[in-house]
Amino acid sequence: MYVILALVATVVVALIHPASGGELTQEEAQTFLRFHGYFHNNESADVQNLEPLAAGLSEFQAIYNLPEDGTLNPQTVSFIQNYWCGSSDNYYTLRNSKQGKWNTNILRWTVYPPSTAYLPHRQKYIGITRQAFEMWSANSNLQFEYVNPYSQKNISVNIVISFTEANHTFQRINNRDWCPFPTGGMILGHAYFPDLMSTTEEVHIQKSLSWYLNEEPVPEGARSLLRVLTHEIGHVLGIAHSANYESIMYPSLVFENTTKLSQDDILAIQELYGSKPAVRTTVTTTKTTSTTIPTPNTQEINLKVPKLCDLNSKMSNTSFLIVNNKLYLFYKKYVWMLNLNTREIQDTPLVITDWLTFLPTPFEKISGIYQKPDNEVVLFSESMVYIFEYASFKVLKREHYNVLMRNYPAVRGVVNSYRGKTYWFFDNNMFSEIDDCRFLPKNTALITEQFTGVPSKIDSVFRYTDV
Ligand SMILES: [Zn+2]
Ligand SMILES: [Zn+2]
Repeated sequence: MYVILALVATVVVALIHPASGGELTQEEAQTFLRFHGYFHNNESADVQNLEPLAAGLSEFQAIYNLPEDGTLNPQTVSFIQNYWCGSSDNYYTLRNSKQGKWNTNILRWTVYPPSTAYLPHRQKYIGITRQAFEMWSANSNLQFEYVNPYSQKNISVNIVISFTEANHTFQRINNRDWCPFPTGGMILGHAYFPDLMSTTEEVHIQKSLSWYLNEEPVPEGARSLLRVLTHEIGHVLGIAHSANYESIMYPSLVFENTTKLSQDDILAIQELYGSKPAVRTTVTTTKTTSTTIPTPNTQEINLKVPKLCDLNSKMSNTSFLIVNNKLYLFYKKYVWMLNLNTREIQDTPLVITDWLTFLPTPFEKISGIYQKPDNEVVLFSESMVYIFEYASFKVLKREHYNVLMRNYPAVRGVVNSYRGKTYWFFDNNMFSEIDDCRFLPKNTALITEQFTGVPSKIDSVFRYTDV
């Protein structure tokens, strides 16, 4: 069993970081990029071949909003020369297997070393670790229980938090090799990701770094153990890095006076383990299955077509697209087209895959569809995102939703407002404004907080239109 565990667990490798403020050689940059997941195979990390370095750097620069020229420009060098988590950025490719989580919602943890002889202020470390676990349990359907390594040594432990040296092994997993932090390196710690077969996984934190162990607010420039522990515990629960600066899962150390989860982090943990069950349940007598975002001086489209009216009771499965004065209405595998100028509508619908021939057959349904300000059309199916040109229908991008939108639950609806903003509505009471240039969510918020009276489960969203 241990052999299997060793094979399936994701090994997170520490890496050698150059000292801060110094030069960064190409070899050091390649080492950094390889361990953070920006070389997709070992051959491409050839020191003699600069092209893969440029490609890896460009990808890294694009993700972290650095000047994107594929070279070791000053901003990129100083960004790399920070304190980093030792986990790879491309763990999301493994998460697509949906295996990257624990198969239980109640997890037991302990802190090593067990003796104050090796860990002075051990009670303080336990207290901070407990706070870090509570960050995640307060926002998800997870529970954590502390196990005393002496008095409860027969109780199995799921998560071992180990404060350890540069050269270290595992505390409770006997067959795994050394996983050293490099001497003089700038690694805060690293963690092992779970999978559905995990029984024990570990978090290793650099004991030799000077940590701030007291209550928040953290004094300027101090290194918060609570912040780093919350991040590493995020990994051991199955959450990958986020390029969102506000996320606790941002991979390099960000100074903040207080530690809290961002909306990104809450979405990620709830996607894996569900949201925290409500203490009291509120009985609602009405249920709305669709909502509209009205804009001034607009008028609702009058769809007096019997066949379409039959869809009224099935609104939850419909999507709309308005382009070039045409309204497309999607229901399951069918599409109706309405000319908004002439109000003409076809008698019988088309099969979507006959119209959008790039879609796979059989095709389930469109979860959301909209036109970006640059006229490209974005289409969500259950598992894929397509971006295509209108009206040539040439596919510009085809990507698995989980690859493109790691840490986000499924899209349930999309809308673009008359102010040129695009909103995506997610499966768990969250919605985001979308940065259509970078194709990333920003300003994620709770639907029920922003739109009072709207149910948290959105099935369909559309806007009124000027006609
Ligand atoms: Zn990390
Ligand atoms: Zn380690």
